[in-house]
Amino acid sequence: SKKAVLGPLVGAVDQGTSSTRFLVFNSKTAELLSHHQVEIKQEFPREGWVEQDPKEILHSVYECIEKTCEKLGQLNIDISNIKAIGVSNQRETTVVWDKITGEPLYNAVVWLDLRTQSTVESLSKRIPGNNNFVKSKTGLPLSTYFSAVKLRWLLDNVRKVQKAVEEKRALFGTIDSWLIWSLTGGVNGGVHCTDVTNASRTMLFNIHSLEWDKQLCEFFGIPMEILPNVRSSSEIYGLMKAGALEGVPISGCLGDQSAALVGQMCFQIGQAKNTYGTGCFLLCNTGHKCVFSDHGLLTTVAYKLGRDKPVYYALEGSVAIAGAVIRWLRDNLGIIKTSEEIEKLAKEVGTSYGCYFVPAFSGLYAPYWEPSARGIICGLTQFTNKCHIAFAALEAVCFQTREILDAMNRDCGIPLSHLQVDGGMTSNKILMQLQADILYIPVESEIRYSTWKKAVMKSMGWVTTQSPESGIP
Ligand code: ADP
Repeated sequence: SKKAVLGPLVGAVDQGTSSTRFLVFNSKTAELLSHHQVEIKQEFPREGWVEQDPKEILHSVYECIEKTCEKLGQLNIDISNIKAIGVSNQRETTVVWDKITGEPLYNAVVWLDLRTQSTVESLSKRIPGNNNFVKSKTGLPLSTYFSAVKLRWLLDNVRKVQKAVEEKRALFGTIDSWLIWSLTGGVNGGVHCTDVTNASRTMLFNIHSLEWDKQLCEFFGIPMEILPNVRSSSEIYGLMKAGALEGVPISGCLGDQSAALVGQMCFQIGQAKNTYGTGCFLLCNTGHKCVFSDHGLLTTVAYKLGRDKPVYYALEGSVAIAGAVIRWLRDNLGIIKTSEEIEKLAKEVGTSYGCYFVPAFSGLYAPYWEPSARGIICGLTQFTNKCHIAFAALEAVCFQTREILDAMNRDCGIPLSHLQVDGGMTSNKILMQLQADILYIPVESEIRYSTWKKAVMKSMGWVTTQSPESGIP
């Protein structure tokens, strides 16, 4: 049969905390042609610990690529039209592997993991000179969240890692590095690199000079030879070495929250987006200027779209637990079977009836940065049922966003007039309406390319704009 004639296509690997996806777009029209998604296991071996299997993550990427290519074949679309692949990934999650065998030396320590609480406490006592040493170079507070302390823990506690470092066989990377190294050949010439956005989440990267920082590496005791090469977010890193897309260049790399900022076309200073995935991340583009927060937000690299292109920065409000609370209600309490069911429960009652849920499972991130905080459900009476708890869980996501939006508004001086949103949770209409009511500004899950694109997306039911329903907050 005749194959459909199309312009060049681009593939996107989206490796998140909950799942992996591969999506193929028409590069001219941005139309999504096909995709495939696989959920990723999370292991909780001890209280506060969160791990994933780097091999499972890699296999999920290959599986998604293969399945998507099969689906394209069924649509009569020639996969040789795929000219480039980009990687977007969960940030901070830390992997150390052996470059001779290609084997990970420990599970991936996930960004949410709290095992480094005591590492952080002892490091914070040793910060030299002024307290701003780490923050002023990296834009980040010393926290369990970032890779350097996770890597420190691996070096202190895992014999295999220590040995591999001594024998000069160890490579460190965030998920982007692990994937790009593996996809470009692994032990057979894999490229060990990362991009500026992912590097800016390690706590080892100087966000002003855009280089690994010798002083920071000394402070954390990290051998610099295990770090990946830092590249821009848009350049050819290497070619796919195996699978259906063998030979296709990998030519883009962005941490997931930067990718969302770019995907929402927030290219102007002051433009912002909030992503509701496992956690919640509000990023505001601050242009070429590194803006430091007085209200508990992070300063981070937003993107650098080419070797010779300028760097853009963002202010970021990070919330550790958003969609993860829904997954917890599903996996730990079993009150829902799928994430979507939360909406049905919440709808039944339409109120939390005085029940409050603070899902501080991984301490509290912005604006508190309190690693010792833990979750609580309160305001319970004999009247309370699972529907109220479900509603309170959705409210918790909205209240946390309210706090970071307030902090962002204070830092920026000009309050945001609307909130552009995306992420897995935004398909939940009740959540989006609640969010609009709690922020008292419109919440828009739409991508503003052009009117026709909007119309196309609307006809597919992809555009939802929620305005505040009633009253003054
Ligand atoms: P990530 O990029 O962190 O992997 P996603 O953007 O893919 O996350 O969103 C997945 C998260 O969204 C999961 O934690 C899931 O529980 C939650 N989620 C998915 N659908 C819904 C829904 N209808 N209502 C509430 N939460 C949802």
